[in-house]
Amino acid sequence: GAWLRRGIRPRHRSERSRRVHRDPHGVSGVILSLSKGRTALITGAAGFIGSHLSDAYLAQDWRVIGVDNLVTGNTANLEQARSSPRFAFLARDITQPPPALIEEISRTYGNIDLVLHFASPASPIDYAQLPLQTLAVNSKGTEFCAQAALEWNARLLYASTSEAYGDPLEHPQRETYWGHVNPVGPRSCYDESKRFGEALVMAYVRAHDLDARIIRIFNTYGPRMRADDGRVVPNFVLQALRGQALTIYGDGSQTRSFCYVDDLVAGIMACAASDATRGRVVNLGNPEEYPIAEFARIVSEIAEVPLRTEARPMPPDDPARRCPDITVARQLLSWEPKVPVREGLRRTIEQMRRALAQAEAPIT
Ligand code: NAD
Ligand code: UDP
Repeated sequence: GAWLRRGIRPRHRSERSRRVHRDPHGVSGVILSLSKGRTALITGAAGFIGSHLSDAYLAQDWRVIGVDNLVTGNTANLEQARSSPRFAFLARDITQPPPALIEEISRTYGNIDLVLHFASPASPIDYAQLPLQTLAVNSKGTEFCAQAALEWNARLLYASTSEAYGDPLEHPQRETYWGHVNPVGPRSCYDESKRFGEALVMAYVRAHDLDARIIRIFNTYGPRMRADDGRVVPNFVLQALRGQALTIYGDGSQTRSFCYVDDLVAGIMACAASDATRGRVVNLGNPEEYPIAEFARIVSEIAEVPLRTEARPMPPDDPARRCPDITVARQLLSWEPKVPVREGLRRTIEQMRRALAQAEAPIT
């Protein structure tokens, strides 16, 4: 209903939208299906969350255009998506879009209804290695997405982060909390660029009445996390599977709250579909909070290995505690996570065990 009220009508794909562009600098990747229905453009589609999100929209009969420059993502994550005739992939850096890209995308694919901006390095070791790209994708990249959404009369959802709260002085974190961020520390390229991205989205809402919303995602885990991305879940799981000690930074008393990726994706889709979230910020995460030392015990238990840990220095500016208050998501979206951490870890460990066996199989 809301889509129609806003003048976005389900559309029959014209011949125009089927044209294949041969220009190597132009838009490539053909959506083979001419089925009607809605179209989402997902930046960061080859990443961990973006690929699950692509699969979920395709499963609901959307057409999906995935955009990614593969800086931290991997096309292997898109194996399932690529089997759909309603999926197209564009290898593009959205911080340096060719001048006519927005116009070209709509000429090739027709009407775009929804822009989901998920492109950004997300793990502390990734953004430490890519500080300038991280700053660019959340500033210039967010502006590209806002501009595109405006020109296409599409809706925008921007993936921000719990890191916007920094090392929080309020606990648990509500959307109204302004945060406690070191603007020049090693995490600042991520935290501050996400905060800038949020400010930019709100400016488009105020200045252009853009139909946009912001989500702040709390630590999310699941299959397809990169084995070497340095985040605590892949680190602990791989260490457990390899019979190594689990590396605990600091004394392990710092807390995190872990959300299984399927739960997050359900929350993102509910938020994107909601009129009530327009111009708002919504926390998405699982409010079950664990000290990292206890989390190490749970991972060992689920992986069925004896607990062995090794202390490592605490990285600078590592937030001492983090837990979402999800009252807003509960009220606006009737959403809350359903997958218990032990079940989510079981699924993640199973996938990583398979991936590890494959990677370490002798070449015959
Ligand atoms: P990821 O690294 O797996 O995915 C990010 C994707 O963006 C990658 O495929 C990467 O190649 C792509 N990308 C980066 N810069 C790009 C550019 N300039 N142009 C095009 N593509 C580009 O990370 P993720 O965990 O899937 O995170 C996805 C989004 O969710 C990020 O915006 C991140 O900040 C946010 N987020 C994630 C978490 C989490 O726990 N995973 C928590 C908070 C926020
Ligand atoms: N951590 C840890 N051992 C590891 C990796 C991370 O103890 O091998 C800790 C890290 O110091 C942080 C928490 O686990 O307190 C979550 O780290 P992650 O990098 O996954 O995400 P963050 O929430 O810090 O962005």
